[in-house]
Amino acid sequence: MSKVAILAFSGGMDSTSLLLKLLREGYQVYTIGFNYGQKHIIELTRAQMNIDYLAIQGYQVYNQTVDLSSLMSTFSGALTSTESIPKGHYEENQMKATVVPNRNAIFSSIIYGYALSMSKKLNTDVIISLGVHSGDHAIYPDCRPEFYRILNEAFALGNWDSDNVTLDLPYIDGDKTTILLDAIESCKVLGLEFDTIFANTNTSYEPDETGRSSGRTGSDIERILAFNAIGRKDPVEYQSNWDDVLSHALSVEAEYMDKIYREKLTELQYQVTRNSATERAFTGIYDKHFVVGNYYCVCCNHLLFSSQHKYNSGCGWPAFHNEDADAKIVRIADTSYGMVRIEVKCSKCDAHLGHVFEDGPKEFGGERYCINSAALIFGED
Ligand SMILES: [Zn+2]
Repeated sequence: MSKVAILAFSGGMDSTSLLLKLLREGYQVYTIGFNYGQKHIIELTRAQMNIDYLAIQGYQVYNQTVDLSSLMSTFSGALTSTESIPKGHYEENQMKATVVPNRNAIFSSIIYGYALSMSKKLNTDVIISLGVHSGDHAIYPDCRPEFYRILNEAFALGNWDSDNVTLDLPYIDGDKTTILLDAIESCKVLGLEFDTIFANTNTSYEPDETGRSSGRTGSDIERILAFNAIGRKDPVEYQSNWDDVLSHALSVEAEYMDKIYREKLTELQYQVTRNSATERAFTGIYDKHFVVGNYYCVCCNHLLFSSQHKYNSGCGWPAFHNEDADAKIVRIADTSYGMVRIEVKCSKCDAHLGHVFEDGPKEFGGERYCINSAALIFGED
């Protein structure tokens, strides 16, 4: 008897990736999709398309759809009612309109009952796999780890033989990007076409009547940015071309991040990191700061320098002769103010940090990173 997994299979990219992962790990998988009156019901058709594709490739998956639409289509929220689907970034507050009340508790309850029954029928242990991840946590409280931990405890208390069923949330600390990377690995191991699989998914809350994604809802934006992060074009069909879809998603992301930075940073920190301003010489808090520890990007906490790279250059700004081995600071030719200089930026969030010059200490390679204190945050070891 092979290992058995019950998978909540929406037809989106997370649960599809998880299905591939389970197959890769040698599980016999039983999938359950839910018709809850969602406007994007096309996801269930896509789910079946992937089940059919996998069967042709020699991977038998048992798929079924549970129809809860008669009741749940009366639930409040933009996914099941006439309320319009909000547009914008997936962590924006207005995305709460896409919460379906108690949805995951309802689904999990059904899946748990099914898992217990399958465990008994097949006389084996069963895992319940769910593709929830950290990108869901901000808006969907019923995707958070603490919710599943307590729910699982309650199910175990309320049933006999619950030792035979284990909850499996392998993506809980990941995001859509790490999920796609996992799917690439699965496709390689299983000999499957990544683009075929992901063309057969739906993530948009607002597909048109032919099933093409709008590219405008929060879930679209999150998916598009994840494909961009792994350097691939999303194979799913959009209502406009990929360049338009991507440029829109990037501008939504930039606008959202700008709002976050404005809230988080002081005016000086914002002007330096986001608008490439320079703090006045001899005014920064880290200029004459020589405590043992690390210097991080003030915007995103990415590790940039260690105190062992720091030295007193006398130039009026914090100076470092090297960067942390994993910092991967980006260098750009800067010709502003009639000079040719090398600008340095955070590789993770694009924050302007300062410049790098060739007049550093020779024994450490001869470079001087001239960095604004306002771009840094220090942490003691
Ligand atoms: Zn950064």
